[in-house]
Amino acid sequence: MNLRVHTILHGSKANGPGIRSVIWLQGCTLNCPGCFNPQTHAAEGGELISTDTLTRRLKAMPPETEGITISGGEPFEQAEALAEFLTRFRRQENGSVIVFSGFPKEKIETTPQYRACISLIDVLICGPYNQNAQTDHLHYLASANQELWFVSDRYNQADLTGLPTHEVFILSDGSVTVSGLGAIQ
Ligand code: SF4
Repeated sequence: MNLRVHTILHGSKANGPGIRSVIWLQGCTLNCPGCFNPQTHAAEGGELISTDTLTRRLKAMPPETEGITISGGEPFEQAEALAEFLTRFRRQENGSVIVFSGFPKEKIETTPQYRACISLIDVLICGPYNQNAQTDHLHYLASANQELWFVSDRYNQADLTGLPTHEVFILSDGSVTVSGLGAIQ
């Protein structure tokens, strides 16, 4: 099974606790006004990567990496492949898993193919981005209507409070990437 991936970035400090590898998936139909990542919306584009290959690529994560963060695009629009990938990742690594989703918690809980992913995730940041629901980002939400869902007991609210909200990477090809609460450029 394949996942359509937009970008993979290692060494992030603004996508959850500790140093993280971030996987932005490609494809989102939700079209939240003001979305930071419109380039991830198209169902085509990005790179189709098998869940096996993606898991093996993550063996190259820097040793200090605390876990992975999956963002979008909308991860649950590839729910079946996401569940397969996370199952493989959990077998290979001890790292934590954080997922950003535009779907509300209730929809994730009540949709069978989405629900299959839940036990593979430590923290879900869920709900559609609302550009009119301002937040100070203190509690690691891009907009105040979103919800932090601590699925496992690995993290709690304190772990996600006061984290850096944005960071800038200069990549090996000289391009600049802004990453953080919702953003990748
Ligand atoms: S904020 Fe997330 S869920 Fe909303 S349109 Fe952008 S990528 Fe999709």
